[in-house]
Amino acid sequence: MALDILCPLCLEHPESISHALRDCRLVKPVWHQLGSHHLNTNFFSQDVNLWLSSNACLKSSHTVKGIPWFSLFSFAIWALWKQRNQVVFNNKGVNPNISNVICMQAMEFVYCVTQPRCRNRMIVRQIKWEKPDMGWVKLNTDGAADVAAGSAGGGGLIRDDQGNWIIGFTRKIENSQQLLG
Ligand SMILES: [Zn+2]
Repeated sequence: MALDILCPLCLEHPESISHALRDCRLVKPVWHQLGSHHLNTNFFSQDVNLWLSSNACLKSSHTVKGIPWFSLFSFAIWALWKQRNQVVFNNKGVNPNISNVICMQAMEFVYCVTQPRCRNRMIVRQIKWEKPDMGWVKLNTDGAADVAAGSAGGGGLIRDDQGNWIIGFTRKIENSQQLLG
């Protein structure tokens, strides 16, 4: 079986990892559009393993266009590989807009995944009454006030460790100032 070793994008050079992801004349402009030259002057001459690890492991403080470079770099690698496969397996053309797509994905990742600790994260929890330990009783109370109408009320009940009602009470407070005070 004869394998075609030429790059499926340019059809000019043998397809190596570095050619497919970095050096192909149809891939290089994408890296320029992403701003690779801002960070590393030997970006296009590094050994491929070092190139992959050093760029993907850069601290998030290294930003290009306001986006951490490690994120831009990683999404670019993935997008360029997927594009290459679209060309090979689905006869698709090269996407002229791919650098914008990469920027959007990298930005989305940074906002959604790397900063969740800074945000108020919503946790969905089911609230239900829980029995007290065996031999204990539980008192639940609640109250409400209508400040405009000046009235308020409250109540409570005591249940045993099986949830059986023991006693309950309600209280109406005509003047809610008593409550607020
Ligand atoms: Zn090529």
